[in-house]
This record gives sequence, C-alpha cells and structure tokens, in this order.
Amino acid sequence: MASLTLSCSSITPSSMAGSSRTHFPVLPLEFSCCEHHFQSRKRSGRGRHKSGSQPVVKAVAAAEAPPASQPSEQSEKKLRVLVAGGGIGGLVFALAAKKKGFEVIVFERDLSAIRGEGQYRGPIQIQSNALAALEAIDLDVADEVMRAGCVTGDRINGLVDGISGTWYVKFDTFTPAVERGLPVTRVISRMTLQRILASAVGEEIIQNGSNVVDFEDDGEKVMNIICRYGVCFIDLENLLQVTVTLDNGQQYEGDLLVGADGIRSKVRTKLFGPKDVTYSGYTCYTGIADFVPVDIESVGYRVFLGHKQYFVSSDVGAGKMQWYAFYNEPAGGTDKPGGKKERLLQLFEGWCDNVIDVLRATDEEAILRRDIFDRTPTLNWGKGRVTLLGDSIHAMQPNLGQGGCMAIEDGYQLAVDLVNAYDQSIESGKPVDVFSSLKSYEKARRLRVAIIHGMARMAAIMATTYRPYLGVGLGPLSFLTKFRIPHPGRVGGRFFVSLAMPSMLSWILGGNSSKLEGRSASCRLSDRASDQLSRWFDDDDALERALDGEWFLLPYGHEAASSEPIHMPRDKEQPLIFGSTSQEDSPGVSVVIRSPQVSTQHAQISYKNGYFYLSDLRSKHGTFVTDNEGRRHRIPPNFPTRFHPSDSIEFGSDKKTMFRVKVLRSSPKAAEKDEKEVFQAV
Ligand SMILES: Cc1cc2nc3c(=O)[nH]c(=O)nc-3n(C[C@H](O)[C@H](O)[C@H](O)COP(=O)(O)OP(=O)(O)OC[C@H]3O[C@@H](n4cnc5c(N)ncnc54)[C@H](O)[C@@H]3O)c2cc1C
Repeated sequence: MASLTLSCSSITPSSMAGSSRTHFPVLPLEFSCCEHHFQSRKRSGRGRHKSGSQPVVKAVAAAEAPPASQPSEQSEKKLRVLVAGGGIGGLVFALAAKKKGFEVIVFERDLSAIRGEGQYRGPIQIQSNALAALEAIDLDVADEVMRAGCVTGDRINGLVDGISGTWYVKFDTFTPAVERGLPVTRVISRMTLQRILASAVGEEIIQNGSNVVDFEDDGEKVMNIICRYGVCFIDLENLLQVTVTLDNGQQYEGDLLVGADGIRSKVRTKLFGPKDVTYSGYTCYTGIADFVPVDIESVGYRVFLGHKQYFVSSDVGAGKMQWYAFYNEPAGGTDKPGGKKERLLQLFEGWCDNVIDVLRATDEEAILRRDIFDRTPTLNWGKGRVTLLGDSIHAMQPNLGQGGCMAIEDGYQLAVDLVNAYDQSIESGKPVDVFSSLKSYEKARRLRVAIIHGMARMAAIMATTYRPYLGVGLGPLSFLTKFRIPHPGRVGGRFFVSLAMPSMLSWILGGNSSKLEGRSASCRLSDRASDQLSRWFDDDDALERALDGEWFLLPYGHEAASSEPIHMPRDKEQPLIFGSTSQEDSPGVSVVIRSPQVSTQHAQISYKNGYFYLSDLRSKHGTFVTDNEGRRHRIPPNFPTRFHPSDSIEFGSDKKTMFRVKVLRSSPKAAEKDEKEVFQAV
C-alpha cells in the first residue's frame, strides 16, 4: 500500500496491473481521524478483485484537485484518460483533453491503417460543423486543417439524375455556414488530417502499435483512508480505476477509458457484448483520378442518383477527383483481378459523362472496394468509467459525409463534460464525478447523432427507391423506360427534398455551434464564394456558361472511327456550316461530311451570347437533336435551336452521321488543326 507523497506519473506500462501505478502528490485531508467520510458502493461483478471490499472516499478529490484558487484551462488536471484508438475521433478527443489539461494516453493499433482511406490516402470531407468544433478545440490546428483542405462548400453541391446529369436538388452549404460564422466545408486527405492531429497531440501521448484487447473497470473500487496521529491520508494505490490490456500483455491504468476504436470496437464488445454491424445493402467502390471536370469552378461535390445504385464525385484539389460508386448487392462480393474498372463501366453504362469520364480517367490500381456497414446507436454509450466515441458507438453510412464530423463533435463535447466535472469537484471538494460526466456527454450527443445517423440511412433508402423514369424496376413493364417519362416519385421526391433540404443542412452544419465555447463566430476572409453562386442555384444556363472548356462535336456510332472531333469556336463571326461539299463562299468554317443523307448545305452551328445554336438549312433528310433525357426531335428548318453539352446531333436520319456535344478542358488532338475547312470521312 502506498501512501503519502509520491513522485509524479510517467506513461510507462505496468506489466502486472496493480504493481506499478501512477502516483500523485497527496495533500493531507482536512478532517479529523474520527470523521471518516466513507461511502460504500456495491462492487461490480466484472471488476478485477483486489483484496476484499473497501469503502470509497468521497473526499479524495481534495487530493486530486489543485487548490481552487489556481485552476486554469491549461493547467494539469489529475485525471488520467485512456483512449483506445487513434483515428479521427480518438485523436481529436485526445487533443481536446490535452488542451483542457488532462493527462492522456492514446493506444493505436496501427496509425497507417486509416479507415476509408486504404493505400491511396483518400480524402475526407470535414464540414462546417466539425471545422467549428476543431476551432473551439485548437485554433492553430483548425487553421492548419483548413489551409491543407480544398474548399468545396463555396460551390454548388447536390443531387443530380445519374443518367441525364440534370440537377435534381442543389445544396447551399455556403450560406448556412457564413450566416452562423462557421468555416466553409473542406475536403482534406486523411493522411494529412492524421498527420496534423497526431503532431498536435504529440508523439509522447500516442502509443502506436498498441492493440487494446481488454479492459477492466474497477470503477467501484474503493479507497482506504489511513488515519494516524490525527491526520488522514488516501491509499493512492486505488486512485486509478480502469485498466487497459494490450495484446502484448502490457497494462495501463487510468481514471477513465474512451473507446474510439472504430466500427468493430473491442471496447464496445466488452461493454455491451458482441453485436453484428448492420449491412447497408450497398457495396462501395472508391477511386481517385487525375481529372478536372469542366465545371470545377462551379461544382464541389455531386451525388448521381440511380435505381439501387449511386455515384458520388468530389473535387479534392490538386487536379484530382475522388469518387464513390455504390451498388446494391449482398455483402462479400469480390472482383476478378484487374476487373473493378471494367465492372464499374458495365454497372454505370449509359450514365452521364460526368460519371463515365471520371471512371475512365481512374487507374484500375486506384480503385478499392468495401461493403458499407453501420451501427445503430444505442441509448447507452458506456458504463461506469468507460464510454464510446465516434464510429465505435454510431458508425454511419458515408452518404452525408458526417461520420468523422460527428466523431469530432463527440471529442469536443466529451472534453467539455470532463472539465465541467473537474471544476465541480474543485468547487465542492468532492471527487471528480467521472461517471456523471460521461453520462452528461452521451446525453448531449445522443439525439443529434441519432438524427444524423438516420438521415445518412435515408439517403441510401432514397437511392434504393429512386426511379428516374416510369418502368424502372418494374420487371415486365420495364419497356416503359424507353419513353423516358419522369417517374412521379422522382418529381414528388424532388419537391420534398428541395423544401426540406435548406433547414436540414442548416441544422446539420450549424445545429451544434451554440454549444461551442472559445471560438468567435466569424468567417474567414479566405472563405469566399463566387459572386455568381446565388445565380447558379436558380439558373442552369448560368452554370452552363461557367463551364471552363472548349465545345466539341465528338463523332460516335458505327462510322465514328473514320471521323474526327470538331471544335466549335465561341465566335459569332465563325459559324460552322455543315454540308456534303465545301461552302467556300459562306462566312465561317465549312465542315464537309460526305454521307448519303447529308445535303449540299445541311446545317449550321452558331454562337451567340454564350450559347450555341443549331439551324437546319432546309436539308432533305433533316437534322436531329437528342437531349440528355434521351428525347429525340427533328429541328425545324431555319430556326436556331439551342443545344447543350451531352446532347447528340445527327445529320440525316440514317444514323451514319452522329455527334455528341462535349465540353473539354483540353482539345482532342485531331481538332487542334487550325483549318478553314474540316473534312469528315463517313
Ligand atoms: C467510404 C467512406 C467515406 C467516408 N467519407 C466521410 C466524409 O467525407 N466525412 C466524414 O466526416 N466521414 C466520412 N466517413 C466516415 C468516417 O471515415 C468515420 O466516421 C470516421 O473515420 C470515424 O472515426 P473514428 O475515429 O471513430 O473511427 P476510425 O476512423 O475507424 O478509427 C478507429 C481507430 O482505432 C484503431 N483501433 C481499432 N481497434 C483498435 C484496438 N483494439 N486497439 C487500438 N486501436 C484500435 C484503428 O486502427 C483506427 O485508427 C466515410 C466513411 C467511409 C467508409
């Protein structure tokens, strides 16, 4: 039994719990030897038994706490916090607890295995709510994260129909952030985020290569008071009450344990028993590509909706796009070696160019596959002196990009509740009430997390029930899809989502901000959006005008191999004249197409006020446009008709001369020739 004044702790393991301890300086307790303020508690059956049943001394906080006159936020507080797991949640909490003056140890199994990242160091979206929590924890760290991230919240984000690419609902994540003085959402490489957090937490705190396999919560453990000659002392051997065991047999003791060890948490299993994770119904391929879409200036991330499949793409900066392809099928599927890209191109065949182009630009080796699971959060997040945080208690589907953000919010809140408990103990002279502080943490987090968890599931359900056209998913009636009649559910769903989305987003991004202390509710000057942003929300034409690229006609169909891309100049003095012979006398560029149904003077493409128009020049077999919804129509003669990227243009009706309208950042080689006349062999 150790008592009286002892040396300060070091973070060294005890090879045998109980034999090596953290020791704290002891102040003599201020009560007489006859007034033992004992309070008995029932011993937990799970607790590691020491000798016999001993009383708990409430007055012990007088020994733990510094004198009431000197508390300061940064001063060392004598609670030792053990954290299992050094993922986003564990590291952020460790940082917050360290900043509040607690002694922390993080046990991390393998710092290089970041979930959701894989070997390609994939990025993660950290949204305004989580960035604000980070600011409240440590402004310098938040600044570093924000500098390293790529801002996506300053552009249009939202849902589009996967096949047509047409906007379904646009999300404004910028306004709710700036209105509440929150930072604007960023995407950051998981590796970079981990590096920033780990270096702020400190190497001395993170024990890498430490696999937590067990713990004992002797929270009911009691302490001896030794009273001699009228002065009472605490038995310090019993001060620390949770023991963590690593797979190498080392044991560490602390005052509480935070299980931040991810979706398959060992701490959770030990607390509540084994429980399977819940399969979302979706397998998810992820990839990252060197690819810059032409709408990079106006679009941050986009979810492409399909029936039982969806696709998400996001700018991640540095000329790269990250994407996720979700497909509804049983868990456990595998792909043949080198077959992921091929499978994806099959699964997403017929989807809009934004999906196909980024898939094509991705190397097979950069594609990973995982099944998506979550965990239904429970009412209880812990027991005794052990609690859970992040994915270990509420792993959610990635559809809202909030799983990591919720772990960050958890980390902030838990540190606050521990400090509150500590401050109360100073005021009252009673022991730090760890148990109540953990309960108050889970109470503060439960509802918000459950709602966001539910919303993330709803997003997958929405994809499962999404039907772009009548007939989709209707088995024998699937022939109806060829008529491309918008499904009533799509129309109604769009109405509902448009109505609900602004308040939902405002709550997700800003709903926790009133709880954050220590940050000023002000935006950064660098968090600016284009002055066109509000226009882009209401006006698809403005979005089209903002495309940063050159317009081309790309030949397709069975004669395409012998044809070349045609560049469409943004110049109203340079129309393109299409015909079977050269149109030397006409102003503009003559495009000669020798094909049975192309008339001598067939059609013209002109540019005016930011838009391209197609006119049929009274051709014999007509000029046709098929829009991105698959609706084909013959354009009236001599009447300029506007067309858009992804539309198809046909000269004649024999399907021999077909072109796809495409906006590209770099010219296809063949179209670079600066010619007054272009010949198309058909
Ligand atoms: C495809 C995909 C995309 C996502 N995109 C986003 C996004 O854009 N934004 C967002 O906010 N969230 C996103 N998420 C969710 C996010 O990745 C998780 O919610 C977040 O990583 C949870 O953090 P965590 O610290 O709780 O758990 P984890 O990140 O899983 O960390 C747990 C840590 O504990 C360690 N560990 C596990 N067991 C032990 C043990 N026994 N002993 C010691 N250490 C242990 C692990 O090595 C790991 O480092 C995405 C998830 C997926 C799958």
